[in-house]
Order: sequence, then C-alpha cells, then structure tokens
Amino acid sequence: TGIYRSLVRLGTKHEIPTKPDLNVAHLVLSQFPQGDLAEARIAFVDAATDKSLSYGEVRRSVYSLASALFHGLGVRKGDVLFLLSPNSILFPTICLAVLSIGAVLTTANPLNTESEIAKQVRDSGAKLAISAPEELHKFVSTGVPIMLTYCPSNSGMLSVEELIEGCSCSLELPQVTVVQSDPAAILYSSGTTGVSKGVVLTHQNLISTLKLLFWSVDVSASSDDVFLAFIPMFHVYGLVFFGLGMLCVGVKIIVMQKFDFQAMLLAIQKHKVNNLPAVPPVILALVKYASKAGCDLSSLQRTGTGAAPLSKEVSREFRKMFPWVELRQGYGLTESSAAATFLVSERDAKARPDSCGQLLPTFCAKVVDIDTGKPLPPQKKGELWLKSTTIMKEYLGNSEATTLTVDSDGWLKTGDLSYIDESGFVYIVERIKELIKHNGYQVAPAELESLLLSHPLIVDAAVIPVEDEATGQIPMAYVVRAAGSELSEDQVIQFVAGQVAPYKKVRRVSFIETIPRSAAGKILRKDLVSLSRQQLVSK
Ligand code: AMP
Repeated sequence: TGIYRSLVRLGTKHEIPTKPDLNVAHLVLSQFPQGDLAEARIAFVDAATDKSLSYGEVRRSVYSLASALFHGLGVRKGDVLFLLSPNSILFPTICLAVLSIGAVLTTANPLNTESEIAKQVRDSGAKLAISAPEELHKFVSTGVPIMLTYCPSNSGMLSVEELIEGCSCSLELPQVTVVQSDPAAILYSSGTTGVSKGVVLTHQNLISTLKLLFWSVDVSASSDDVFLAFIPMFHVYGLVFFGLGMLCVGVKIIVMQKFDFQAMLLAIQKHKVNNLPAVPPVILALVKYASKAGCDLSSLQRTGTGAAPLSKEVSREFRKMFPWVELRQGYGLTESSAAATFLVSERDAKARPDSCGQLLPTFCAKVVDIDTGKPLPPQKKGELWLKSTTIMKEYLGNSEATTLTVDSDGWLKTGDLSYIDESGFVYIVERIKELIKHNGYQVAPAELESLLLSHPLIVDAAVIPVEDEATGQIPMAYVVRAAGSELSEDQVIQFVAGQVAPYKKVRRVSFIETIPRSAAGKILRKDLVSLSRQQLVSK
C-alpha cells in the first residue's frame, strides 16, 4: 500500500488514559514524584546561578501561578498567553500553569524584533504577555492588555515571582475543563511555504507526544539522569522535552539561558551531565573544539540531535572522539509536535549514521512522488508524509495553508525529500520546501523577500539557502536593482539586518537581471540554488 507503520508497539505502561477531558499539564503533574521524594528530587538548576527548584517546589509554583492567573488576573480557558523569554528555570512552571487552566501558550525567539513580536501578538490574539525583563519593551506598543515580567525588576511591572508568592497557599488547581481537541499551544512555523504561521497544537497532540517520549525514555533514560537544557524552550523541541516530557521521568535538568560552547562544557563537567539533547552545530563544535578545552566530559552517556541534518562525516568523527557517548538522531517538525522518528539503538545508529531513525509509535508515513503524488516503494526518494495523533490541528486562522499542508485524510506534507529503507529507517535527503534553517532556527524566505521588496531601490528579490558547515545554512538574497541604482551588497545586508532578528540576517547578496519564475509566477528556487553553487565554485 506504500504506507509505513511504526514497528514499535507501546506497552501497557505507556498507555495514558485517553479521558476526553485530560489536560496535558495535569497529566505531567500527575507523573511528578510524590511526598518526600518530590522535595528531595531536584527538577531544575540554573547553570549560571546554581539556583534550583525541587519537583515539590515546581508543583507548588504551578498551583500558585495558575490560581493567580485565574482568580487574580481573570485568565480564562482559550485566552492566549505570550511567553517571551530565553530558557529559565521558571519557563516550564509558567507553561504548566498556563496549560493547566486551559489557556493557550504562544512562544517566540526572544531575539525577535519588536515588529516581529507585534505581528505575533496580533496573529495569536494574545491577551497577556509574560516576558523576561530585557524583552519587556517589545510588548509596550503591541497593546497587549496585561503584561508581567519575571525576576522582580524595578520596571514597576508585576512579576511572576510576586504572583507565585502571593498565592502560595493554593493547594489545588482552578477547576477548568478542557476537551482534548482544545488548543494548548500556538507555536510559529513557516511550514512548506510563505511566512510564519501559528501551528495550533491541542492537548491531545501534546499528550500523544508525551506517550512517545515516555516510550523512548524508557529505552534510553532514567530518573537518575542529568540533562543539560540549552535547546530553546520556546521551540517545540525544547518545550516538549524540558517543559513537559522529562518532568514526567523525574530527571534533573540543568538550564542554560542560551547556548554558549564554553559554558556548556563547564556545565557538563560541574553537574556530571550524562544526557545532552543538541542540534548539529553543537555536535560539530564538540568534534572541532572540545579536545582543546580541557574539560572532563566523561560523564556524558548520550546525546541526541535533531532540527536539522547531521552529516555522516560529523557523526563518524563524533563517535571516534567520544566512543563512550551514544549519538542518536531524531527528526520532527513543529507541525508534528516534535519528534516523528528517532534512532533508538546504538547498534543501528552506528550502522546507519545518516538515518534519523524509525517511525515513533503512533506514526505512519508515506514517501510520495513529487510529480505524480503516488506513494513510492522502499529506497525511492520522494516527499515524506506523516500521520499521527500528534499532527497539528491547523494553522491558526489560515484554512488555505492548513488544507495545503494536511490533506483530507490527515497526512502532513513535510516538504522534506526522503526515502525509507526496507527495515523502516528514514533518511532525510534535502529540504524541498522554502524553509531555511540557520543554527536550527527557522528563517522564512518569504518574510525576507517581502522586506527586501519594501526597499525603494529593489525591484524584485528571492532568498535561498546556502550550505554552511558551522550553522547548517545561511540565507542568501538574489536582488534585482532598480534601473540606474548603485545599491551595494552591503547596503542590502544592512537594510535587512536592521529589521530582523540576528539569526534571520541575509548574509550574502548577489545582483541579478531577473528572478527566474515559473509560468505561474513561482520563484524557481532550485535554479537559484544551482546558480549560487556555480558562483561559489567560480569564485
Ligand atoms: P521545525 O518546525 O522548526 O522543527 O523544523 C522542521 C524541519 O526541520 C523539518 O521539516 C526538516 O526540514 C528539519 N529537520 C528536523 N530534524 C531533521 C533531521 N534530523 N534531519 C534533517 N532535517 C531535519
């Protein structure tokens, strides 16, 4: 039939009661250690300050914050709350409190500019913003009705800590009933085409993802594990992993505000980290620079990578340098509530360093011929389509994009060119969608193109990815200048840099007579990618 199914069956202990009104936050809290163990077991440690929170403290803070939001600030089911912050030991508490009262969480990269944040506030309809103090100014002109910060600051703004403190005797969560199809989170992704869209993930989506995590953790982690968290919690990978999933296992999570190579090595050494969820640029940096840093990394046992492709060579080098560390690749999308495939066994991972593993439980896949739409047999390359209870409900307020991305049978078109071998291992070959990934972060060409077109001296523009060893890809712009204009490459770069988050910067520019387009007016990106390769070779 051309349909691949997950070969893994979930055991009874991974069965989560599928009560129609189960709230994902309640599920996570119900898995916390109980009694004295909850007080003794540390959930989070701030890598910079050593401040820690036990499981008991996290639970009490969630109860207090949920009560304060509900009773004090009048947050109700369905209200959207915008959390803008780098990683912090409070981040998961805020997520759980918001979800527990049926409110909907939206997050963004704190590097995003004021206008990018304003756009997301409008699109998501956020009623309340919780922001790290240094990002608070980005909300000032958005008109979001309520703003909170964290870490009591002298901004005069109410802080999350004060709310938690003020409601510290709340012994239960406010009574709010959700149904599983209710939205829980709106995370932003550009999908296969166009600008960023709100990916609506429901309680059911996140609960299903937790089932997968429980299973994969069962085969690869235990409550004695120490994880290092620099993967951003605003992204689906960090949110599902550190904000929800790992708390169900009872592990200790060392939280880094953001990635810093030296700080990462020191944190591994100091806290005897054994589990390191990462992205390919981090694995590459470990291969290149770890031996020179002189840190003790002997505690490491496992590292996982996802969000972008890991090269076979880097994977081999890593295994050579760190023979005691298991390296596992996973693959997933915001639209699939994180991981869809994972390479569980070390023996398989060694034999297939370029595979991102087999389908996780609940997933079915098809590899579809790009021209005919027909499912293909093993080893043949085509677009990967996925089906699972973790697939998003919709793109918020954009039924056209939703129908283009998820067909009427529920298949998610990933925009990734892939093949599956006879044993069910999935290989991602390249991205056929527009999306560019820089250091694992999404950059939507359409967004940069519309910005470029707003320049008075630019007539037409197209943005494409250029491969880059250290960061994965960099955005490159092909630009058609207005007749007689002397606009320079550097001026174009500066024009964009002044208006977007640093990771979205156009880092290379080339001028061109016309942008190649199909008869229907679509940019022929493949032609531009080939042109950029030729230009690079002839340089
Ligand atoms: P995001 O929604 O930001 O998680 O981005 C999802 C996209 O990241 C996928 O559609 C892929 O293009 C890419 N991606 C994620 N994991 C991998 C992987 N292991 N190998 C190659 N590409 C990946």
